[in-house]
Amino acid sequence: NNFGKIKLHNGVEMPVLGLGVYKVEDGTQIEETIHSALDFGYRLIDTASFYENEEGVGRAIRNSSVPREELFITTKVWNSEQGYENTLRAFDQSMEKLELDYLDLYLVHWPVKGMYLETWRALEKLYQDGKVKAIGVSNFKTHHLKDLLSNCQERPVINQVELHPLLLQAELRNFCSQQDIVVEAWSPLSRGRFLDEPILRSIAERHGKTPAQIILRWHLQHEIIPIPKSITPSRLKENAEVFDFQLSQQEMAEIDGLNKNQRFGADPDHID
Ligand code: NAD
Repeated sequence: NNFGKIKLHNGVEMPVLGLGVYKVEDGTQIEETIHSALDFGYRLIDTASFYENEEGVGRAIRNSSVPREELFITTKVWNSEQGYENTLRAFDQSMEKLELDYLDLYLVHWPVKGMYLETWRALEKLYQDGKVKAIGVSNFKTHHLKDLLSNCQERPVINQVELHPLLLQAELRNFCSQQDIVVEAWSPLSRGRFLDEPILRSIAERHGKTPAQIILRWHLQHEIIPIPKSITPSRLKENAEVFDFQLSQQEMAEIDGLNKNQRFGADPDHID
């Protein structure tokens, strides 16, 4: 599979599709999942301290034959770890678990009210010290981004948010694009809840692809980085085979038209 790359505004290159590992068990499950994913061409792995599988991610990487510099590893600082000193400590803990010399991308997992600006100062410090190649945020709405952008030294390269055909996030994507912030999509497949949708099925049939592949292709053509999760080798392979066809403008518009502004995950304005 020919996974392309996208250049972030600080010059770092990042694969355009990745593997999400939320709810993948630490131990053999994560090691086997990452090894199959690497065989199918995945190079971007998205974990978080909250997922409690950073050790397994690190082990899987060390036991693979893929050179470190080809990989792009993301982890995140959890809500209870926010604040300047706490975040620096949380980063060290994540790095000890991952056993990596450097991290590719560190994200603020959620915009914890009254905390995220201090947390961001810690990410800036980690970036300036060369411990992480790029820093970004997750689950930031436009108002959080505006607040951050007017109070930062380093700008976030990415905003990772829930984004799938039922949650188009048009206004937020527009703002991010104006600010040169790449959008990354979590739950890109709505956790599999929407794959029977007739429009997706008919587009899939036309291309000889599956609805999951149509959805991921839709993300790519919108220049959004999807990070689908699976532990099933056949699905990992299926989710990676999205670089050999193209959706027409009309098909893209039909999929956009499925939007219902429907979140399955938490609303970032209503978290602890
Ligand atoms: P997802 O949309 O990737 O759905 C994964 C589920 O869809 C799988 O468990 C499986 O049941 C099904 N599936 C996967 N491939 C399929 C296929 N080809 N055909 C049929 N069914 C298939 O949902 P997710 O795991 O919530 O999100 C992906 C990743 O995003 C996570 O693993 C995590 O890394 C990240 N994430 C981040 C946040 C955040 O707050 N930043 C929140 C949730 C998830």
